[in-house]
Amino acid sequence: MNIPYLDLKKVTALHDEEIQQAVAKVVGSGWYLQGEAVQQFERHYADYIGTQYCIGVANGLDALTLTLRAYLALGKIHEGDEVLVPANTFIATVLSITENRLEPVFVDVEEDTLDISIESLEKAISKKCKALMLVHLYGRCTYNKKIEEICKENNLLLIEDNAQAHGCWYNRQRTGSLGHAACHSFYPGKNLGALGDGGAVTTDDEELAKTIHTIANYGFSEKYVAPLQGKNSRLDEIQAAVLDVKLKRLDENNEKRQTLARTYYTYINNDAIRLPRMMDEGNNVYHIFPIFSPLRDQLQAHLHEKGIHTLIHYPIPPHKQACYRIYNHLQLPVAERLAKEELSLPLNQTMGVEDVQYVIEALNSFQKF
Ligand SMILES: *Cc1c(COP(=O)(O)O)cnc(C)c1O
Repeated sequence: MNIPYLDLKKVTALHDEEIQQAVAKVVGSGWYLQGEAVQQFERHYADYIGTQYCIGVANGLDALTLTLRAYLALGKIHEGDEVLVPANTFIATVLSITENRLEPVFVDVEEDTLDISIESLEKAISKKCKALMLVHLYGRCTYNKKIEEICKENNLLLIEDNAQAHGCWYNRQRTGSLGHAACHSFYPGKNLGALGDGGAVTTDDEELAKTIHTIANYGFSEKYVAPLQGKNSRLDEIQAAVLDVKLKRLDENNEKRQTLARTYYTYINNDAIRLPRMMDEGNNVYHIFPIFSPLRDQLQAHLHEKGIHTLIHYPIPPHKQACYRIYNHLQLPVAERLAKEELSLPLNQTMGVEDVQYVIEALNSFQKF
């Protein structure tokens, strides 16, 4: 048996004919940027998430970076201000902060829920903190009323990094509509993935939406008129057309992930393996299925021998990266331990229950040695 971590060829094949048609339509239209396909996808995605606006951009990192840059342009944040960020995130969240010459304040997380620790968050807040970037890591909704209260009390902008949680719910709202702005990545491996790079920002803030749109198009408010120094960060027509096809079956595909995840939760049984607390159905779209073990590397080798391919998200937390030497001295013990113990199991809509059962058997036969 061979179980790849993620077979993108199979993911695309689930939508094959429709994707071919959508791409052919764009190719034949002669219009490849800033056209109808992007406009249509932006409208559909805003409706899906439940926000007024959606701005397509080139990738998820740009979505994050442009959001902060627009807040700087609007005078809501100033150079040198602090931005709170969970210590267990993907490096792009942090890059968007430092790229804008803002100061990241890393906050440690909870071992059991992987959520940002409220106690550490409250300790970390100072007068210089202007925003909280909330990362729905692994597809788990990490928003709650307490976070909303803390943001209100401290006048913090709440920016969601929704790169891993397309389609996830918080009560009757989607993640991506919970804060002041939300950033999405359509990297091919994400739950809603393009056939290349893509990203978007969703928001109800008209001024923010306009400013991001302006900065993403050379700073032009209208053709060749530049009130701001901008850049070029666009979602292209072909990717938008592909995303529009895949959006229609995002919920169905997320439900498949949830069914398989339930099987993992029910049958994984090994003292050397810890699972994060299970969430209510709907609050987790299982972009990644993480398990934790102090014997992570042996466990990974054991699975590999049985043809099961796993990944690690992420082996080095951002504050321990060589590029962030000035933060290397910081101690965020839970995030650091999770990075040593995390292992991501194969889980996606192309897998069958027999694949998951095979992985479970391999996990349960792992012996501590
Ligand atoms: C993928 C990802 C990003 C970056 O998205 P790209 O489209 O690859 O630039 C940002 N944040 C998180 C949490 C991600 O998983």
